[in-house]
Amino acid sequence: MYTINENYLDLQGSYLFSTIAKKVAAYKEANPQADIIRLGIGDVTQPLAPAIIEALHKAVEEMGTMEGFHGYGPEQGYEFLRSAIAKNDYQARGCQIDADEIFVSDGAKCDVGNIQEIFGPDNIVAVCDPVYPVYVDTNVMAGRAGKFNPEKGGFEKIVYMPCTEANGFAPEIPSQKADLIYLCFPNNPTGEVIDKAALQKWVDYANKNGSVILYDAAYEAYISEEGIPHSIYECEGARTCAIEMHSFSKNAGFTGLRLGYTVIPKDLVCNGVALHSLWNRRHGTKYNGAPYIVQRAGEAVYSEEGKAQIKEQIAYYMENARIIREGLQEAGFTAYGGVNSPYIWLKVPGGLTSWEFFDKLLNEVQVVGTPGAGFGASGEGFFRLTAFGTHENTIEALRRIKEM
Ligand code: PLP
Repeated sequence: MYTINENYLDLQGSYLFSTIAKKVAAYKEANPQADIIRLGIGDVTQPLAPAIIEALHKAVEEMGTMEGFHGYGPEQGYEFLRSAIAKNDYQARGCQIDADEIFVSDGAKCDVGNIQEIFGPDNIVAVCDPVYPVYVDTNVMAGRAGKFNPEKGGFEKIVYMPCTEANGFAPEIPSQKADLIYLCFPNNPTGEVIDKAALQKWVDYANKNGSVILYDAAYEAYISEEGIPHSIYECEGARTCAIEMHSFSKNAGFTGLRLGYTVIPKDLVCNGVALHSLWNRRHGTKYNGAPYIVQRAGEAVYSEEGKAQIKEQIAYYMENARIIREGLQEAGFTAYGGVNSPYIWLKVPGGLTSWEFFDKLLNEVQVVGTPGAGFGASGEGFFRLTAFGTHENTIEALRRIKEM
């Protein structure tokens, strides 16, 4: 009889967003007329920018010609896109990252999920609490997390770094050993950021202790304030201790198109082995590269028109973020985030749990958000709203919440 990977049995419950979807579907079935506003899942709503559509059309046409047809591409990504990324996202910011240190993929979720494969089974994993669930679940699947301990509110072997009101939602360097440290700024779900000096402390810690930082910069494009790092490579010494993941989902609306990338500097070496070569091997073995037409669309994100159009879209979402944050504050809520991020992290009032508040919002005003408890024990008592809706829906949702 064959056996299964029993680590999967240690995963907790169903995925947060499927639980929400089930609750919303049940409500909709009981109340077919209800006008539900969804500010829950972090999916964008604005259509792709014209420069991206144009690049897609052009690439599709090319694929229908003998000269322009592209079959299997380089697994690491086409040179034109890797160079555009290196130039715009790194070199223009003074970060020393070369095109061949960039691995293009079909999104950050796969990369942040898969990256743990190149590390040994006994590494101690540290995550923020609350946390984007993919970091934890993929380590559970790999057997690196131990058993779930309800008293701890987490997995035995995972080091949780609480991000609470008390520490301004900035994780503190753990007192116990941590080998693989997942950091995500601007943060999902809290919407908060850390400044360069704070990030530098993590880099220094990692270099000193032989840890690697897995830095998820999926929301980098939403940073509006000075002094907030857009990349971990702005910090001195990050080339020897950090891997960075990016997504085209939230800055350019690629949630359906799919594109992302991971940066592994060649200086990142463990006992003489470059992580760059391990990931290169893994990528070449298990991945066939992002589609040519999608990579051409990604290239258009860095064109002058593309940049301008995307800036407008981000401003659109950030206006929603302002409406939500200020609206909540006017209604007497305490709300965080929403300044350098499309997420607003509100404190649940009246001693309700975050799932009770979810039910209340759904049942009373038909607004869907995400309960903080779904992101970890320290998320209890908080609730995430996203700025990715339309202006009209965002304004209407806030009107209803204020009325409630
Ligand atoms: N990382 C974080 C922190 C996210 O919140 C998300 C998506 O919501 C992702 C990564 C996934 O991005 P992608 O759409 O590129 O897979």
